[in-house]
Amino acid sequence: MAAARPGASSPLEIARLVKRYGEQTVVNDLSLSVAPGECFALLGPNGAGKTTTLRCALGLTMPDAGQITLCGEPVPERAREARRRVGVVPQFDNLDPDFTCTENLRVFGRYFGIDTATLRERTPALLAFAGLAHKADARIQDLSGGMKRRLTLARALVNRPELLLLDEPSTGLDPQARHLIWRRLKQLVAEGTSVLLTTHFMDEAERLADRLAIMDNGRILATGSPREVIAAHIEPHVVEVYGDWPDGMAAWVCTHGEPLSVRCELSGDTAFCYVDDTAALLAHLAQQTTLRYLHRPANLEDVFLKLTGRDLRD
Ligand code: ADP
Repeated sequence: MAAARPGASSPLEIARLVKRYGEQTVVNDLSLSVAPGECFALLGPNGAGKTTTLRCALGLTMPDAGQITLCGEPVPERAREARRRVGVVPQFDNLDPDFTCTENLRVFGRYFGIDTATLRERTPALLAFAGLAHKADARIQDLSGGMKRRLTLARALVNRPELLLLDEPSTGLDPQARHLIWRRLKQLVAEGTSVLLTTHFMDEAERLADRLAIMDNGRILATGSPREVIAAHIEPHVVEVYGDWPDGMAAWVCTHGEPLSVRCELSGDTAFCYVDDTAALLAHLAQQTTLRYLHRPANLEDVFLKLTGRDLRD
C-alpha cells in the first residue's frame, strides 16, 4: 500500500447498496470503502454480485438503495464527472479492432477530452508500461490475449486515474501474462493509484490486495487483510488426506474425525482436515500405511470454500 496523500479521501465509498433484478436481490445491503493508495480485492464465486457492484459504483447500473461516493462525487447523480477520474479494465476486452494500439489509446484519450499534444506525449510511455512498445502500429487482431489485456490496462491509465477498477483482470491469461499484469498493478499502487479489483483467483488476491472482501449472494461474508481473514475464519492447519481406506475417505472421516478433534470436509476422495493442533492427527496418520497426506498452512482458498461452499457455480 502506498503512503496516502495528506488529507486524501476515500476514492470509493459504498454504503448499504441494494440491487434487485426481478425477484433476485443481486447486491444485498453491501458496504465497502477503498482507502487512498490501497489495493482492495472483491472475491466471490460466479454470480456473487461482483460485477454488478462495480457497475453500480460507476453509475452504469442503477441501484435500488444505498449511497455511493466515487472520487468525491455522488453516484449515480454525478457519475459522469466521477468517471473522468477513474480507469476501468472490463472483464472482456472491448478494444476497437479497426485501430492500431496507438490509435486505440488516442481515441480513448480524446473521449476524456485530452488534447492531441498531450496524448502524443503520453502514448509511448503507456505502451512501454504495457510491454507493447514494439506493437505500437499493430492491429488488435494481431495481438495475443495477454497483449490485449495489457493494452486495455494501458488504455485505462490514459486519463491518469485516481482509482483503477478491474473486473477479473487475469481471467484467461497464461501465467507469464498474469505475472506481468500483477507487477504492473503493484507498480501502480506503489505510485499511489488506488485499485479495486474483482477476482475468483485466491493467489491473485493474496499477492495483490492490502484488504479484501469475500462475497456471495450479494453479501460480504468476510473482510480484512488476507492474513486477518484467514486468522478470523479458519483453523491454522490443513491436512489433506487421501488413499485407500475401507469404504473410502468418508468412512475414515466418520471413524476418526471427531475423536481427533478435526473438522473435516470431503471433496471427491480427499478429506480436508482443519485443525488447531496437528499433533494427534499426524501421529494417527503416521500409523496408517494405506493413507497419504499433505500438511500445509490454511490459505485464502480454504476460507473461500468454507464460506461459499464447494458446490459448482455456473
Ligand atoms: P459476478 O460478477 O460475481 O459473477 P454478477 O454481478 O455478474 O456476478 O451477477 C450477479 C447475479 O445477477 C447473477 O445471478 C446474474 O445472473 C444476475 N444479473 C446480472 N446482471 C443482470 C441483468 N442485467 N439482468 C438480470 N440479472 C442479472
